[in-house]
Amino acid sequence: MGVVVQKFGGSSVATAERIKEAARKAIRAKAAGNQVIVVVSARGDTTDDLIDMAREISENPPAREMDMLLATGEQISIALLAMAVHALGEPAISFTGPQIGIVTDSTHTKARIKKIDTTKIRAALEQGNIVIVAGFQGMDERYSITTLGRGGSDTTAVALAAAMKIDPTVKANGGKVSCEIYTDVDGVYTTDPRIVPDARKMDSISYDEMLEMASMGAGVMHSRSIEFAKKFDVPLMVRNSFSDAIGTWILPETDWMAEVPVCGAALARDEARIVLDGVPDRPGVSHQIFSAVAAVNIPVDMIAQSVGEAGKATIGFTVLRTDLSNVLAVLQPIATELGATVKGVEDVSKVSVVGVGMRTVTGVAETAFAAIAAEEINIKMITTGDIKISVLVDKNDGVKALKALHAAFRLHEPRKGAGISPGGDPVAMVFKSRPALLIDNRPPDLSVLAAKLAGMEDILVSGVTLNPEQCRVTIFDLPDRPGACSTIFTAVANAGAIVDTIVQNLTGPGRAELSFTVPRSDLTKALECTQKIVQEMDPNCRVTGDADSAVLFVFGVGMRTHTGVARTMFGALAQRNINIRMINSSEVCIGVVIDRTHGEEGLAALKAAFTMG
Ligand code: ASP
Ligand code: MG
Repeated sequence: MGVVVQKFGGSSVATAERIKEAARKAIRAKAAGNQVIVVVSARGDTTDDLIDMAREISENPPAREMDMLLATGEQISIALLAMAVHALGEPAISFTGPQIGIVTDSTHTKARIKKIDTTKIRAALEQGNIVIVAGFQGMDERYSITTLGRGGSDTTAVALAAAMKIDPTVKANGGKVSCEIYTDVDGVYTTDPRIVPDARKMDSISYDEMLEMASMGAGVMHSRSIEFAKKFDVPLMVRNSFSDAIGTWILPETDWMAEVPVCGAALARDEARIVLDGVPDRPGVSHQIFSAVAAVNIPVDMIAQSVGEAGKATIGFTVLRTDLSNVLAVLQPIATELGATVKGVEDVSKVSVVGVGMRTVTGVAETAFAAIAAEEINIKMITTGDIKISVLVDKNDGVKALKALHAAFRLHEPRKGAGISPGGDPVAMVFKSRPALLIDNRPPDLSVLAAKLAGMEDILVSGVTLNPEQCRVTIFDLPDRPGACSTIFTAVANAGAIVDTIVQNLTGPGRAELSFTVPRSDLTKALECTQKIVQEMDPNCRVTGDADSAVLFVFGVGMRTHTGVARTMFGALAQRNINIRMINSSEVCIGVVIDRTHGEEGLAALKAAFTMG
């Protein structure tokens, strides 16, 4: 007997009719022979209303009491849904997070799950119940109610699925567990269809792609829930609670996914950029900065540290706009101590393209920059991950940039992973035959899963690698105007050099610094053609090549949600006195350029820091 965890979001339980429909869906899944756990969010705008209620009383309510209040929203939903299931003649029982044994840390309003005890759920399931659990909440070791952060019910659902997967009884029954996230959209789209009407629903997407999409503003699911699904190999389907249509599967990567260079594009409008100028270029500085930000639990997104000149570097990164004032307050004293300046820029939007195909296909960056240049949009900052490219633009240009990228990568057309193309696509056809089953057949490694589950939300870094063959090219004083990047990368591509990571930062008024890495064998031609092209653009800009560099990468999940990964990485390098020349980050990977002679030492330091032996 399989276990299905269904999660219904706020809009899917907003009215009595919606609750009855959720009850019917749960009963159907049970009738199909599954044990069913349902996780629900607070109804409609309840959570927002509760927050408003608190604000009427106090500007700054204690976080513990905020959680006490917010957790009531979900408690209403579970009771009503249990009643609805009863009314349809099936046994059901509801539980709050604390009742069901969801234990979290004590970070009120942003708590992380530490463990889940499945004893009670299993007993209730074995008695034939549909088990209904309040999402978004748990309790800490002092029995205080905690909440998991906005949108946290997804995390509850996937965490429960993960916990059930290693439950011994479930295991004895074949251990088949899947998770359905019911929401008010049909699935995951190539981009937000409200902004780009010809966006397509995807049939499937890999965990990594979904993580990048979610971190970039594709608001279908909470990032942490996808991390969980990836760590514990839980197949997820995002689907519409208003229909029975198949939604989008979120799954481990398969070969065909790499055939599509870009699977989706996203716009994040609520970003802010922080720039630290004149930062001393010496070991330990990035660590000092990012550990201060991590210490106050603020997630950092794009990090672009440029090379710097005369011993001074510029570090740029983005945070959510709502975190801007906090970050500035934390960084101001550090900047003063370092003799640097720090400033925040609010009106920026981030546009990104994602696809695992980028690992094997070249030309994605040129296409992206050309599309943006054609719209005369200026780029303020660039970072690249192994499966994504992000650019920061003026807030007013965000939508235009997104539309341009969606069209440039032809995301509106049917293709593998986004509906079968009219000619019939065998790979997609095969894929359409319930891919989740393939995954569930893989025997889970119990010991590994159990170890992971002991610290459910511990950072999971899956790999550390050294690429000693990557060299860096840097352009200083590049005029900050639309089309500059497009011109340069088109020239570099035409010269036959393969560009890997790209970092661009605004350094002074009207001036940018752009760095990229190429394989050692391509360095000479990359340098030559870059020199030539920037001379034509502006004789004042200078190009340097650095053949003595190497790139260290850390791969994993939740680089953004766990600011601690950057902290650990930079800390380990600082401890060995290894200077960081360039930083590039994404949700699933952080890359740093260091001196090549320190490559092996840096690799060993990172392996030790992430205890990978
Ligand atoms: N009710 C919470 C919120 O609105 C949790 C959730 O919906 O997932 O953020
Ligand atoms: Mg909600």
